[in-house]
Amino acid sequence: MASALTEKLSRLVKEMRGQARITESNVQDMLREVRMALLEADVALPVVRDFIARVKEKALGQEVVGSLTPGQALVGIIHKELAATMGAGVSDINLAAQPPAVILMAGLQGAGKTTTTAKLAKLLIDKRKKKVLTVSGDVYRPAAIEQLKTVTKQAGAEWFPSTPDQKPLDIARAALDYAKKHYFDVLLVDTAGRLAIDEALMREIQELHAALNPVETLFVVDAMQGQDAVNTARAFKEALPLTGIVLTKMDGDSRGGAALSVRTVTGAPIKFAGVSEKIDGLEVFDAERHAGRILGMGDIVALVEQVTAGVDMAQAQKLAAKVKSGEGFDLEDFLEQIRQMKKMGGLSSLMDKLPTQMAAKASETDLSRAEKDIRRKEGIICSMTPQERRKPEIIKATRKRRIAAGAGVHVQEVNRLLKEFEQMQAMMKKMKGGGLMKMMKKLGG
Ligand code: GDP
Repeated sequence: MASALTEKLSRLVKEMRGQARITESNVQDMLREVRMALLEADVALPVVRDFIARVKEKALGQEVVGSLTPGQALVGIIHKELAATMGAGVSDINLAAQPPAVILMAGLQGAGKTTTTAKLAKLLIDKRKKKVLTVSGDVYRPAAIEQLKTVTKQAGAEWFPSTPDQKPLDIARAALDYAKKHYFDVLLVDTAGRLAIDEALMREIQELHAALNPVETLFVVDAMQGQDAVNTARAFKEALPLTGIVLTKMDGDSRGGAALSVRTVTGAPIKFAGVSEKIDGLEVFDAERHAGRILGMGDIVALVEQVTAGVDMAQAQKLAAKVKSGEGFDLEDFLEQIRQMKKMGGLSSLMDKLPTQMAAKASETDLSRAEKDIRRKEGIICSMTPQERRKPEIIKATRKRRIAAGAGVHVQEVNRLLKEFEQMQAMMKKMKGGGLMKMMKKLGG
């Protein structure tokens, strides 16, 4: 699924090459694909329509900058808009309240409320050094209370006992009272879920909300729920002033379109993503990354940005001019190139951002070997004198031995580097001034 979209988009990107701006006609096909992708990712139809209209408005008539093609520029716009819709930046949990800060967990049964309650407890203990109490108001399922007890223990938090014969409101009040007396920083309240929206359930959680005055009311929703998530979200939004969303089961194979729908319907920020059944499987939600996932194309846009941002354009141009003017490409320039590669964040970080099917081509070991290789080369050139770097031809046996010793490598490795440099020099001459950017493109392709 994901790869199909990636392929379609890259084909369209290719077709749009050579056009200088984004126009009504060249944008049409691309948006059609994106629309399909969003629907396939289970984003609700009205949300999709709205989104496509916004992208179109932003894109039309836009000049295409630098080395990007209109297709690439459009992918960038789509990606950005997707991330912005899901909430730019990171929204952290709010604990700004007279302690204990109460966090109310809401959602359907099976959404992952109990699991998330414990995960959140652990996160607040480990990362924020908080003293955390949990309590379950799910009096309809005795197993749910026991489950919270077990996972709370795993999280290293304290659990406040409750029994099925109590009223949820009484339990919550008692827990709050206990938390105050024992100086807890945070009280996490797990609530009863139903299999579907139910009025009595909504009333109950509204009462809990009124009595507890929580600083956070988190709506927990299963990312695999797809289209249904919209109706659930709408019902909870009407019943409660939601302050945040937790999307669970993001490790599943859904493309996570629920994120876009739920965010649009509730207007609340997505704060966390559940990524495993384990107690530490909760991550702060990253809208940028998730936008890539929905489009099924990895972080390809971030990749484009990283490549262009990491490269020092002034340096690259100087280099290009040098080659053009026939001044020659020396080891100083070679070193500069190696450093540019490093600035780009290392090869494996670049590979991380590529869609999986592309990244799969280069194995992990290949990458770490390549990175080590870059560092060793840098070491060798750094052991040379400036004169040697400018005039590599003076490097004969004695100098080679000295350089090898300085860099802590064998002489053969110095030889190999010099050979590689010569090949690169020859190539640079052939390219006559295309320089670094051309090379980068070669590396990228
Ligand atoms: P509740 O009824 O809303 O309290 O839901 P639970 O916390 O009992 O979770 C229901 C099921 O989903 C359990 O089997 C959990 O282990 C599982 N679950 C919850 N969150 C995640 C998640 O992020 N990833 C995965 N893979 N499973 C999850």
